Amino acid sequence: MSEKTEKPEVLWSHCNECGHETKHDVVHRADRRRTFDDDQYSVEVGSVWKVLQCRGCEEVTLRRVDWCSEDDPMDGPGPATYFPPRVSRRKPSWASHYELPSEYIALLEETYTALHADSRRLAMMGARALIDAVIRRNAGDQQNFGQGLNALAEKYLISEQDRGIVETAIEAGHASAHRGHKPTAEDVNVVIDIVERLIHTEILAEQARELKKSTPPRPSRAAQNKS
Ligand SMILES: [Zn+2]
Repeated sequence: MSEKTEKPEVLWSHCNECGHETKHDVVHRADRRRTFDDDQYSVEVGSVWKVLQCRGCEEVTLRRVDWCSEDDPMDGPGPATYFPPRVSRRKPSWASHYELPSEYIALLEETYTALHADSRRLAMMGARALIDAVIRRNAGDQQNFGQGLNALAEKYLISEQDRGIVETAIEAGHASAHRGHKPTAEDVNVVIDIVERLIHTEILAEQARELKKSTPPRPSRAAQNKS
């Protein structure tokens, strides 16, 4: 009897549930290959499918790497595609604690769905629509996006730094969308960070106003001295 048992393959990969890179067991592997022949050449293409399971939370994911016999071995294995796609972020926890305006909830849901599908341009459009909604709600109709951002900055809802980043990322993406520009994952993440911050700031400011309204004013010193 052979003592040798095959060691299970382990891969490091981002886990959507854990929210960071974790060790995954390869619990199943399947190979698919096809050969294309003509008189002179024969080309083989294939995919390696792996079912991965996170060692932390046990979440299961499917990973596919395509290859072709014409690939340069020096290039190493091609990029992996994951099902469902890897997402580096989830809806912030505060989003479910507060009563957000229904318009925000709908747009947030769609923006995160676009992020999950790695549809970065759609996620950017969602981010832009969310900022427009915040502008309308807090400053009414504005002539253009830049003026809207000014209005938010005047109300201290957005910092000057965030404002600059949003303007660059969204305006640049908007202008070049028709030329096939695809924002990087980092660009999208920074903009979504700012949008989340913006909405959170707005909601907190609203709560503070409500609290102020419902708190009875402190009696004046003159009134206190009389009693
Ligand atoms: Zn996990």
